[in-house]
Amino acid sequence: MPEPTEEARLDALYQLDLLDTDPSEAFDRITRMAAQIFGLPIAAVSLTDRDRQWFKSRVGVSHTSIPRNKAPCAQVAETSALVVIPDLLEDPCYRDSHLAQTGVRFYAGAPLVTNDGFGLGAMCVLGLEPRQASSSELAALADLGAMVMAQIELQHAFGRVDPLSRLSNRTQFAEDLEDLARDQPEHDQRLAVLIDLASPEQLSNSTRVMGSSYLDDMVRDMSREIRTGISTSSKLYHVGATQFLFLTPKQVEVRGYAARLAEQLSEMQQSSLSRFVITTVAGVAPFRLGEVKPLDVLRNVHGAAQDARRTEVRVGVYSPTQDTAHQRRFTLLNDFGAALEAADQLRLVFQPRIDVISRTCVGAEALLRWRHPGLGEISPAEFMPIIEQTSMVRAATAWVLETALDQLLEWRGAGLQLQVSVNISAANLLEPDFADRVLNSLAKRSLAPSWLELEITETGVMEDTGQALAVLEVLTDVGVRLAIDDFGTGYSSLSYLQRIPAHVVKIDQTFVRDLATDERQRSLTAAMVSLSHNLGYRVVAEGVEAIEALNWIESAGCDEAQGYFFARPLAVADFSTWCLSSPYAPVITGTETARPSVPHSIATDLSAEGLAAV
Ligand code: C2E
Ligand code: MG
Ligand code: MG
Repeated sequence: MPEPTEEARLDALYQLDLLDTDPSEAFDRITRMAAQIFGLPIAAVSLTDRDRQWFKSRVGVSHTSIPRNKAPCAQVAETSALVVIPDLLEDPCYRDSHLAQTGVRFYAGAPLVTNDGFGLGAMCVLGLEPRQASSSELAALADLGAMVMAQIELQHAFGRVDPLSRLSNRTQFAEDLEDLARDQPEHDQRLAVLIDLASPEQLSNSTRVMGSSYLDDMVRDMSREIRTGISTSSKLYHVGATQFLFLTPKQVEVRGYAARLAEQLSEMQQSSLSRFVITTVAGVAPFRLGEVKPLDVLRNVHGAAQDARRTEVRVGVYSPTQDTAHQRRFTLLNDFGAALEAADQLRLVFQPRIDVISRTCVGAEALLRWRHPGLGEISPAEFMPIIEQTSMVRAATAWVLETALDQLLEWRGAGLQLQVSVNISAANLLEPDFADRVLNSLAKRSLAPSWLELEITETGVMEDTGQALAVLEVLTDVGVRLAIDDFGTGYSSLSYLQRIPAHVVKIDQTFVRDLATDERQRSLTAAMVSLSHNLGYRVVAEGVEAIEALNWIESAGCDEAQGYFFARPLAVADFSTWCLSSPYAPVITGTETARPSVPHSIATDLSAEGLAAV
């Protein structure tokens, strides 16, 4: 037989994952029956591997394989035809075969042929005496061979078909896609389409209320609708509890298809009995056959469907850029835990805050920095929103707070009249022991609570009014300062904010940056300053980059300013240098501190300059 066909035959055999598997009663039963029908001592289900006959099932022999060379079963596999040898010793081909040498004289084998026409081996019976086979015996042997094949294909399908919808599952999809790519080497473009019936939350809610059989019925009904209404010309796969996947024919244009699919889905949902309980969305991922691995196709189309659900559109289209962004988010999320434990990944920088009237630094905002071992410096504006979605935000804020308070202790010890501001997340206010931990951290360093300011964004306090307010009140009651950060970017009203026991409003830098040139920003900022003052807040302008902005916010009555004009966020050592050289340096007193110890480095730095500047 020509080489490629034999390779394809072997491939078909290997794909069944049958070779060297354990014996199974389902096969042994058939083998015993074959031996009985012929009244012979030996029978086997024999599979033709590259150079051996391996017995999936056997009666009357102890070994599990014999060499393929000169084995009659190999002839059965190669020809896919029945082979009967009345006497091996009389047969020129098999006279000196392994079987003949071990005393076997009679052989009859019926072929085991797959649906695709590949001969896998033989259902065979063997005798120690020469013998003929009647036509009814041979018909029975052929039937038993077919039964063996049915059993093989059944076992193969098991684990590939979803029991609920009876559709092929993702394992089958992966195999089919590989086969398709092999058959069509011209790398056609296809669209993978994944329809997701409901979000995990909707699923668990409806299971809770209506029971799991309701869900089973819904999945079964909807799978039928998708098959008959949407994936009409394609094979539909059931790839997740509520997820169905199919491939479009070639040359389908993605945007037009996505738009049509969105209409079809909303029609399907309109007519569905579950329309009030679930939201069906879909993802579409274009790919070239053979160029993308099946599991990547699944991942991409799954991501597109998730994006659709997240952004509340009906159909999401996979985009490699979004995928890269998603993977980056995932990496950051995965690696932040290690960063918290590593000694050299996280650090704080401090940005001075200047009192506008006295032109003196009165505080410093602690800002977190992360040097990722592979990705380099990551901005907190990128990683904090990701971390804030997880329980790691507790450890992150704890780390920032402890490190910032250590620094405050050092500065206060050196006589610097500074307050330190720490950004906290809304989720921190939901930690039952948050206030206790903050107060303990202050107490164990003998730091006055009023030297610490916590910054929280206005949307942050909006989220949970009850508990968040209670925590803030505990903290402010003992003197911790509270600032509303990024003011003007959220949706809250000042009258609402008044319920929050804050002392300071920090006007967001987007208003401040263009003050010199933008009349509208000026009126908005002026209004915010005056309203904030009327309500008793101290007002800080963030993002002061130029002298014009400083002059303007001074005339508008802002109390404090922060921005690149004075200093960028500084590493601790640079902060010390800045304190020595800047006209806005903080006041330094000799002894009026809670802790007497002056860190050596700062003490010598400051004395070297004679503190003349301050
Ligand atoms: P934020 O709290 O509003 O901090 C001010 C941001 O503005 C900082 O960005 C600062 O470097 C930047 N900035 C200051 N002055 C200027 C200026 O004149 N011009 C411009 N263009 N920018 C200026 P950064 O450090 O990248 O932090 C971004 C945000 O990340 C912070 O905004 C804060 O929301 C968050 N963040 C930083 N550190 C922490 C932290 O430890 N915990 C939490 N929860 N969030 C943090
Ligand atoms: Mg801040
Ligand atoms: Mg801000």
